[in-house]
This record gives sequence, C-alpha cells and structure tokens, in this order.
Amino acid sequence: MLKSSFKYYFSFVKIVNRYLWSGEAVKTRPFYVRYGFSIILLAFITLLKLQYFDYIGEKTPFLLYFGVVIIATGFGGVGPGIFSTIISAVVCDYFFIPPVNEFHFNKTDNVQVLVFVLECLLLISLSGAVTRASARVRKTAERFHALVENSADGIAVADGSGKVLYASPSVKKALGYTVREFRKLDPWTKIHPEEMETIKNFYADVMRSPGISKSILHRYLHKNGSWVWVENTITNLLDHPSVKGVVSNFKNITERVVLEKQKEDFVGIATHELKTPVTSIKAYAQILLRRFDKDGNMDAANMVEKMDVQLNKLIALIGDLLDVTKIEAGRLALHEEFYDLNELVNEIVEELQRTTNNHKIILKLEQGPEIYGDKERIGQVLTNLISNAIKYSPASGEINVFLIVNTSNITVCVQDRGLGISKDHREKVFERFYRVSGPEGDSFPGLGLGLYISYEIIKRQGGRIWVESEKGNGSVFCFTLPLDYRMKSENHKTITEEK
Ligand code: ADP
Repeated sequence: MLKSSFKYYFSFVKIVNRYLWSGEAVKTRPFYVRYGFSIILLAFITLLKLQYFDYIGEKTPFLLYFGVVIIATGFGGVGPGIFSTIISAVVCDYFFIPPVNEFHFNKTDNVQVLVFVLECLLLISLSGAVTRASARVRKTAERFHALVENSADGIAVADGSGKVLYASPSVKKALGYTVREFRKLDPWTKIHPEEMETIKNFYADVMRSPGISKSILHRYLHKNGSWVWVENTITNLLDHPSVKGVVSNFKNITERVVLEKQKEDFVGIATHELKTPVTSIKAYAQILLRRFDKDGNMDAANMVEKMDVQLNKLIALIGDLLDVTKIEAGRLALHEEFYDLNELVNEIVEELQRTTNNHKIILKLEQGPEIYGDKERIGQVLTNLISNAIKYSPASGEINVFLIVNTSNITVCVQDRGLGISKDHREKVFERFYRVSGPEGDSFPGLGLGLYISYEIIKRQGGRIWVESEKGNGSVFCFTLPLDYRMKSENHKTITEEK
C-alpha cells in the first residue's frame, strides 16, 4: 500500500515536472483555464484537508497549500500563483487556524499568515525562474533538434558496441532506409567486404581516443541493393555527458566519386595516348638534329634543339600525370635493388648543374651503407627537389645538397635561398595539384604534382619528406629513408603472402 502510494506520488511529480515547467505552455493556455485550474486545485485540497482534518487540518494549517501555489504558478504563471496564495491564506485562516471556522485578527495569527504569504511569494519567484530557465533549455534543444533533423547529411549516434541509438530522417535520402529500418539494422553487415578491415581499424582508432573526429570514404549497401560511396565523419563523444555515444555524420557522394573516377580515367587514357606520339616526335627531332649538324645547317639545328628542350618538358609533364594516375589507382610499381645513394645524388646534381648557369649546387656528402629501394624513383624525387630549388630561386644563388647518415636512416636535404614558402602553404605543398598562388607563384610554370609524387614515393619506401621554410628566406626540403627498409618490406611481403 505504502509502496504503491509512493509510486503514484513519484509519477505525479514526474508529470508535474514534465508539463508544469515548460514555460511555453503557460502563454498558450487561456486565462480562464489557468485561473480555473487554480480554483479547482484549491477546492480539492481544502476538501481533502477538511476530510482528514485531524491529521492535516488544525495541526498543520498551511500544509499542502505550498504545493497548490507551486503547481498553480507552474501551470498558470505568476498571476494564478499570487491568486492561489491569497485564497490559501484566507482559507487557512478561516478553516484551519484554531479556533476554526472564523477569521482571526490577533497579532500571532496574522504573523503566521503573513509568513505563509511571504514564503509563497518566494516560491512563486523561484518557480518563475525555473520555468524561464526550462523554457530556454527547451528552446535550445528544439533548435538543435530541428537542425539535426533537417540536416542534409545523415546523422546517427551509436553506443560503444555500434548499436544505433539515434538516426536522423536524412538517412533515407543518403541510404534509402527509413529511420526505423536503419535503427534496426546492424551497420557492420552493410559495409563493403573490401573495406571491412580498414573500417574496423579506423573505428577502433576512433574508439581509443575520446573527443577525436576522423573522416573516411567507404562503400555502404543502399536499400535498393547497390553499393554507394559514403563520406563518413565519426566523432567519439562517449565521454561527453550529454551524448554518451559515437556520432556518425555521413553523406552519399557516389555521384562525385564516379565523376572523379571518370575524370581520372580520362586523364590516364589521354596521357597514355599522348606518350607514344610525343616519344616518336622526340626520336625524329633527334634524327633531324644529327642531320642538320652533319650538313652544317646550324640555324635549323638550333631550332630543333629548342624544340627538343620543349619536348623534354612535355615528356616530363606526361610522366607526372601518368604517375599520378598510377598512384591514385595504387599501381605505382617499385623496382627495388641495392644502390649507392651518394653516387645517385652526384649523378643528378651533375646533370642539373648543366641546366643552369645562375646557380651553384654545392654538395656535402657522407658515405653511408648501400641503401635498398627504387633508385630511379628516388632519383625522380631528387630531381624534383633540386629543379624546384632552381626554379623558385630566380635571383640565382647557391643551392646546398647534403646527405646525413645516421644509424637507422639516411637524410637528404636540398636547401635554397629563394622565395621561401609561408606557413599557410607549407603543409599543403605536398597535396595533389597544390601550387602557391599569388603574383610570385603564378609566374612559374608547373602543375603542382612534383611534390605530391615525391611524397608518395618516399612514403612507399618507408621514409618521410618535409619542408622547413619561411617566406622570403629560402626553403629546405628533406627526406629520410630507413636503412632497415629491406627487412621491413621483406617481412611485409611474407606476412601478405601467408595471408
Ligand atoms: P610545381 O613546381 O610543378 O608547381 P611541385 O609539387 O613541385 O609543383 O610544388 C608545389 C608548389 O610548392 C609549387 O607550386 C611552389 O609554389 C612550392 N614550392 C616547391 N618547391 C619550392 C621551393 N624550393 N621554394 C619555394 N616554393 C616551392
């Protein structure tokens, strides 16, 4: 009996909390409802007290009326609150302060009533503050809810095990599932098998670091049975007291991915098709050059020589575009062997020194052990770094190339005293097609691919490439190659083969 009374009481408190402190509702309730409710409540409590007069009547005249005032204020606002206070004071004075059934005009009883009224006024002002605060909180929550619900991106919140706790209606637009269907399905069963391993590692990574946010591109099974490309940003908010979940923010970017793929395929095919005719034009140009030389036609020989220089630039450009296509498709093949890095640096410096009279390339070498890797590709990186050093120091000067041998790696640096790169651009120069724009940067030819290709080549061989630079103070581009790369790549091969 006692237990169920408590249960009813707590349910009542819950309802009071939910409906009374909304604030917003007070304004929409008509005047007669707000005051009528107070009158009904006052009448009900008075009858109840009269019924149980021996327990809650004479001994505690004001008991329950505090509650009436609080509820009346919550339901109807300040007006009904003050109205209930006055009526309660009068009713208590008449019915419940002994001697009962008469009004009291003595000082002691009047002070009692006055204290009750003052306490009630305090409660009214407190409940007004609570109502206003809760209305503010509710408004903010509603605003955020509306933003999430109407966002173009799909938003889902999952618990630590991956079970979906919330999904926004936009999942339908992105993946075809209704909110109800999406909440029921196991997201892991809808991920493309080829990306399962990567995503599991990615997810584990995010789960390890509270507060972290990371993005990944992967395929997901659309409700219509097709695979769609999804750009998914996952934020670990498990530690966040109001979220306690992993938030996934995703959009279907299949159209964009397909277009990009088509563009890449086109560039790949076009450059591949260009390569053959350009190579044969170069061969013919060389034959012509030899003939003109032999016939002593120096004017024509000079022109063909200039043509040959331009052809070399074109071939380098085509080579860069082809490399990018290979990198993007994960098909950049490495031909690895042991080679002497000092010898390679020497060869390339000698070759590039011949291309400039305005720059002096100074070499500082250190003899280290033979290194394992793709000599030609590392040569390509060196050529790119030294050519850039020449290109981006138009006022000429010295270019230092130095090699440092450590116990675990060899570092090669190319230092120029040219334009330098500002902080904003420094991290981005290794991105695909990134070029420093502006009056100075724009005047140098290039596609912004050399450093991107260099970065990929060095990364593939277990190394690291970076730049230290300041605008106007020259740049130092360095890369480091690990000496144990062979061992690591052999181990990797064995593990992959075993799999
Ligand atoms: P490209 O030289 O063809 O534009 P890169 O990928 O080699 O492409 O270089 C990317 C950008 O980095 C260049 O456009 C240039 O602005 C900047 N950069 C590269 N090397 C240097 C350097 N040594 N000094 C100043 N800026 C450089």
